Amino acid sequence: MLGFALNEEQKGVAEMVKDFGEREIYPTIKEYDRLHEMNPQALPRMAELGILGVNIPVRYGGQGFDYVTLGLVCEELERIDTTLRVVMSVHMGLNSMGLLQWGDEQQKMKFLKPQAKGEKYGAFALTEPGAGSDVAAIESTARRDGGDYIISGEKMWISLATTAHHFLWFARTDLNAEAPHKALSAFMVQDDMSGVTSGDIHGKLGVRAGSTGWVNCDNVRVPVRNRIGEEGEGFKIAMSCLDSGRFTVASGATGLIRASLEASINYANERQTFGKPIAQHQLIQQKIAWMQQWYDVSKLLYLKSGWMKNEGVRNTRETSMAKWYATDMSFKAAHEALQIHGAYGYSDEYDVERYLRNSRGAIIYEGTSEIHQLMQASYALGFRQDKHLRCELPAYDPELWGELE
Ligand SMILES: Cc1cc2nc3c(=O)[nH]c(=O)nc-3n(C[C@H](O)[C@H](O)[C@H](O)COP(=O)(O)OP(=O)(O)OC[C@H]3O[C@@H](n4cnc5c(N)ncnc54)[C@H](O)[C@@H]3O)c2cc1C
Repeated sequence: MLGFALNEEQKGVAEMVKDFGEREIYPTIKEYDRLHEMNPQALPRMAELGILGVNIPVRYGGQGFDYVTLGLVCEELERIDTTLRVVMSVHMGLNSMGLLQWGDEQQKMKFLKPQAKGEKYGAFALTEPGAGSDVAAIESTARRDGGDYIISGEKMWISLATTAHHFLWFARTDLNAEAPHKALSAFMVQDDMSGVTSGDIHGKLGVRAGSTGWVNCDNVRVPVRNRIGEEGEGFKIAMSCLDSGRFTVASGATGLIRASLEASINYANERQTFGKPIAQHQLIQQKIAWMQQWYDVSKLLYLKSGWMKNEGVRNTRETSMAKWYATDMSFKAAHEALQIHGAYGYSDEYDVERYLRNSRGAIIYEGTSEIHQLMQASYALGFRQDKHLRCELPAYDPELWGELE
């Protein structure tokens, strides 16, 4: 992306995903949301269309598009269905892009390639029953035993818990580390390893058509070659995976604002009160204007973050801002959209009640709004500066990304 213009490739991929969502997902989303199940065709079709590896280099099984394209894909997916964008956040943002950044060549071939092809699904196992925002408090352990680690612990609130094959798992390797941040390491735990069990959480407010659950490791033997990065780099790896995951959440939330805006415009032009369409009432127009503002600003923020990723420029601060703003605003947009629909918005006859429920989780996961406010204040006050990482997310290089093996 140069300036603000999207190139033909970026527009083409966005159009393809829009078409897929409208034709193949939208017609059944209410039914699967009510059933609390994912459309069984969704992931295989996303794999077939190359969506699950859209911004991964071709030699690692992906489609070789840039990071801005990933943002556009997430916007189009969440405009239709939040659960599919959540898939991209964990499979691509938090897991595959973590492997692209921190994995060695062998690990990229073994784990990233099948993930990019959509033969395997990836997930991110950081949160525990007693550790969410406070990542350094995790209690899961990995004890070295010859050529293996023995991992034990429980992860909670894991998206794709019962669907994923590869969990990027964070565990404590050094029980005596002075700084708790230096105690963690990252591992690729495979769902078919002996001692791995998982289950779904029931009774969720939103993303009902997706899997969110727990994963347990009971003395799971994981080979040393499954350790991602060095021992003690787990905290840094988790944070840099979040820089990628938050980008997908921000761009997805932008799509949800667009969905609320479109639904509101349609309804406001149809519904009549006091002898005219409600679109003619100024207080309704104000809500439409707000939604348009929230959409435009959210889009600029995520495009900036995607552009920085393309250039290989560190974007923790900008991505945090994009995620915080877009998720808070997507909740507000869904709330205003429901209000515009009056009582009809309160039933699942219309989509807006689902938008409201689905928008809520994103204000909690990948850094709560409070955590992003603390981050933004720390940057503004000069308390926080990003340090260079041993492995940075590679800048987008069209030639390298398109090269065959
Ligand atoms: C739908 C969904 C999907 C998820 N998917 C995943 C996943 O795939 N992988 C994964 O690892 N996790 C996942 N999570 C977990 C999510 O990342 C955590 O819920 C999140 O990090 C917050 O942790 P917590 O829920 O333990 O809240 P807590 O950390 O206990 O926070 C509770 C409240 O206190 C506030 N708070 C905490 N610390 C501070 C502070 N220092 N100052 C001010 N306020 C503070 C928080 O903002 C929050 O309002 C998911 C969660 C949801 C809801």
